[in-house]
Amino acid sequence: MQRINLNKNLGVLGGGQLGKMIGLAAANLGIRVHFYDPDPNAPAKNISNLFYNEHYDNKVKLLEFANKCDFITYEFENIPINCLKELNKKKKIYPGIQALEISQDRHLEKSFILNLGIKVAKYKNVRNFLDIENFVSKYSKKSILKTRRLGYDGKGQIEINTSNLSKIKSKIIPNKYIIEKLVQFNKEISVIVIREKNGTTKIFEPTENHHKEGILRKTIFPSTISKNCIYKAKKIAKKIASSLNIVGVLAVEMFVLKDEDILVNEIAPRPHNSGHWTLDGCNISQFEALVRVIYDIPVPQIKYAKKCKMINLLGENFDNYKTYLSKKNHKIYIYGKNNMKRNRKMGHVNIVD
Ligand code: AMP
Repeated sequence: MQRINLNKNLGVLGGGQLGKMIGLAAANLGIRVHFYDPDPNAPAKNISNLFYNEHYDNKVKLLEFANKCDFITYEFENIPINCLKELNKKKKIYPGIQALEISQDRHLEKSFILNLGIKVAKYKNVRNFLDIENFVSKYSKKSILKTRRLGYDGKGQIEINTSNLSKIKSKIIPNKYIIEKLVQFNKEISVIVIREKNGTTKIFEPTENHHKEGILRKTIFPSTISKNCIYKAKKIAKKIASSLNIVGVLAVEMFVLKDEDILVNEIAPRPHNSGHWTLDGCNISQFEALVRVIYDIPVPQIKYAKKCKMINLLGENFDNYKTYLSKKNHKIYIYGKNNMKRNRKMGHVNIVD
């Protein structure tokens, strides 16, 4: 008997856990998945049809890879944009490289969002140490210094106060950092938007996110924010997704203040850790939604379980999965990474009611 072959090949740049979950969603739709990752032990390697173990700045290999794919998507932001711009001329890259370019740089990202009339925490691009001193004395004694590029999971961030100010003086490189007011938020939430090629959007309900040391620990659906706040958060996320011409999914992380004002903290034009709950809390996951949009497969209205909580399994609490295994409403995902260490995302569990 002949095996059914839809003859579709999706290329994914990055073979970490997000890439792996995109790949599994694609496989369920009968689509073969090729991965490109400089790490020879990338988690998605085991589920890949073709695995390119190459660096992201190798234009020749990137092109060779792209030629084997219908479309390209990516699982993280930090891929050299110039290589992608060239690649995009040959093969479409989704959710989009303009969005990727903006989200790679916190200064670009925040000024883009502000230009849409959406609020962000008070911040400034750091040109020199004086900018930091002025910001701290004028706006906020408690601030955060963040690298403009390559920061994730709280990496590249230092809390600044008047006592540690002098210690960072020698480290400042012009235009490499932003300084931002430390926000006294009431809640952290995120909203994931699905946007199709014709501009239609479907939006996952906001979830409440709990971070420690800049790393997401758990996500809770439904959130306990007011209806008005839910409405505002979805409207903001939709506006950003449409302005960036997203084709696929976009995650928007936000701070909700005491007076219910909303500040956008960060955007990610790709599936996001705070959307892992959609694997079991919804009829369609963020990963499947991305693949469907890329291949023009209809996206259904989103249906929800009553409750779903996602807990990240980090290096230090990974062993908890053993106790979750026997629980009837716990769905476990283990990424298959080699080096277990503190604060490293090794897996997650979705607890559904
Ligand atoms: P980020 O890498 O910007 O997403 O930051 C990671 C986490 O650090 C956020 O989810 C917050 O918990 C915290 N954080 C970042 N920026 C701020 C801020 N301006 N005020 C308070 N907390 C922040």
